[in-house]
Amino acid sequence: MLASYARGKNVWFVPKWGSLYLKTHVQLKKSLSSFSSPAPRPPSEKGNTLPSTYCDFCLGDSIENKKTRMPEELVSCSDCGRSAHPTCLQFTPNMTASVKKYRWQCIECKSCGICGTSDNDDQLLFCDDCDRGYHMYCLTPPLSEPPEGSWSCHLCIEEYGKK
Ligand SMILES: [Zn+2]
Ligand SMILES: [Zn+2]
Ligand SMILES: [Zn+2]
Ligand SMILES: [Zn+2]
Repeated sequence: MLASYARGKNVWFVPKWGSLYLKTHVQLKKSLSSFSSPAPRPPSEKGNTLPSTYCDFCLGDSIENKKTRMPEELVSCSDCGRSAHPTCLQFTPNMTASVKKYRWQCIECKSCGICGTSDNDDQLLFCDDCDRGYHMYCLTPPLSEPPEGSWSCHLCIEEYGKK
């Protein structure tokens, strides 16, 4: 009697959850397809991403960097929400201070500080003081070759001076 009761219970549960799953799945599919815009990253996606609370590199958090065993504040990508410790990203002290002052983007999301696109990412140059990206052809004057050694953007030259 007990066994048949349990089986009966199972039979009742499975279709309920099954249909619930199907329903949400269909709804999700529908909302995704109505989302198809020609832009690679729809603007509504931005700002909705909750920053991750652990480091993508060492998997530690702001309480403990797993490499240094020290507490360290995380920096989070303003586009995808991935986070990392500045030391895990091998940031300089200037970079660590700078990235807290603007909407920092991780290497995957990096776009040009001048034209705002992430096209031709092989032409993106990264500032050694703030980690912003710039197309070599967007700079004034434009660069045809990546500069040797370290390079600072106009904002950082203003802020930290020429090296
Ligand atoms: Zn880390
Ligand atoms: Zn990102
Ligand atoms: Zn550009
Ligand atoms: Zn800079």
